[in-house]
Amino acid sequence: MKFSSSLLPIVFFLIFLSDARAQGVVLEHHHQENHQSTLLPSCGSFELMKHMDGRAANFMELSDNFILSLKKVIKHQGAEKVNNIYRIPVVFHVVHNNESENLSDEVIENQLQVMNDAFRRTNPDAVDTRVEFLDYVGDSNIEFFLAETDPNGGSTDGIIRTSTDIAHFGGILPYNASQTPEITAWVTDSLFLNLFRITQSEQGGSDAWDTERYLNIWTGDLRILEPEINNFEELVYLGLATPPIDHFNWPTEITAPLSGFSQGVIMHYVAIGANNPNNYPSPYQVFNTSASSGKVLVHEVGHYLGLRHIWGDGNCSLDDFIDDTPLCSAPGQWDCNLNSNTCVDEIGGVDLPNMVENYMDYTSGTCQNAFTFGQIDIMTEVLTTYRPELSEVIVSVPYSEQNLDFDFQVYPNPVTASLNIKLRLVQSAALQVELLDPLGRAVATSQHQLSSGENTLTLDLRDVKQGMYFLRLTGANGSQTKQIIKQ
Ligand SMILES: [Zn+2]
Repeated sequence: MKFSSSLLPIVFFLIFLSDARAQGVVLEHHHQENHQSTLLPSCGSFELMKHMDGRAANFMELSDNFILSLKKVIKHQGAEKVNNIYRIPVVFHVVHNNESENLSDEVIENQLQVMNDAFRRTNPDAVDTRVEFLDYVGDSNIEFFLAETDPNGGSTDGIIRTSTDIAHFGGILPYNASQTPEITAWVTDSLFLNLFRITQSEQGGSDAWDTERYLNIWTGDLRILEPEINNFEELVYLGLATPPIDHFNWPTEITAPLSGFSQGVIMHYVAIGANNPNNYPSPYQVFNTSASSGKVLVHEVGHYLGLRHIWGDGNCSLDDFIDDTPLCSAPGQWDCNLNSNTCVDEIGGVDLPNMVENYMDYTSGTCQNAFTFGQIDIMTEVLTTYRPELSEVIVSVPYSEQNLDFDFQVYPNPVTASLNIKLRLVQSAALQVELLDPLGRAVATSQHQLSSGENTLTLDLRDVKQGMYFLRLTGANGSQTKQIIKQ
């Protein structure tokens, strides 16, 4: 795979800012180039994955395979899926070097509203989704709320405010415009480590809360200061998210080098909320209209829950692993071009245009308004298999209608050794757990007396042969079954 480099914006500005007559020329070129390649600041999530791949070989390959394995599970589940609602506690770490960066509660609350509207498809601009996509888009049943309890059990409003001495979390570029190779190396080696300082109090940031139980979102100034280039303050990334890491099945050679990257989302403070009083300075004014709607964070949380960009970060031959997002060859250019159709990709017998409405494109916030069911399936499966402790699960169908008094999650799935079963009971109950082969024959059976509230059972499946199985839980009011893949 070949991808546009994160260096491009830097090199680009270096080239043109090195000209003493700089600014006007920069802007002119900036906008011309803009239509041909991704020179504008962007999301850093895919670049972060490439950086992780450099630190932990095979990371990208394992990540690709993981999405494919999730899809296999989703396909097997078919119509069995329960219409659960997933509620995710969020903690905002507002890391500020000045008053402008110390975002108000109103901005944070507005951002949360935008996220909830986007993920529940209650966004007012849902009506703008073009008719050819209406069969493919929907409500993800994922919700977010400001954490009410901190990791020690104390009460909290879910907003942590931290004053910092660091004015530019991107770091300070020690090179001048003529040192392109050094700059390239600096970006490769240092930029992400600089940015992740915001996640550590020892480095001027704010420590993560238990990343298994909270969605941590950090806001601050992500720009790079370039003293040798007229003190230019370069914004390379509007935000970035850590991708899900399969800590159940991946070897420690892969996961250990990534431990310094606290799971969560890092955001440039200007991109938070639709009511943020801060403006993007020159030469980034275009973002004052295209990225001021709070949807950059919707996009980043999509990454955090396992989604890729809809253009697959490549040409028509590269996919985002989602069947109902049309292939496209390049990101939108922070605009809203309804005429773009860069790849032939028939979905339901129709060559659909580029889905500029999708939150996982780089289009303007006024354009983005939808997730597809394929994307929703991946996010839901990530929540149940990768991030099983993160969400409260509310069973939206009343128990009585299901004739059941419980629902359950299983993870990891696919499983290689230990399978965890997480379930919440209204009252204490006896449960029978059975693992059935495809012909319905019990491979393993066990009885459990469980208490009310949340329970986690662990089954040792090391001796079970590879293949597809059904896990059946039976209580007094009936049974529930989920499909499991043993690897
Ligand atoms: Zn992105």
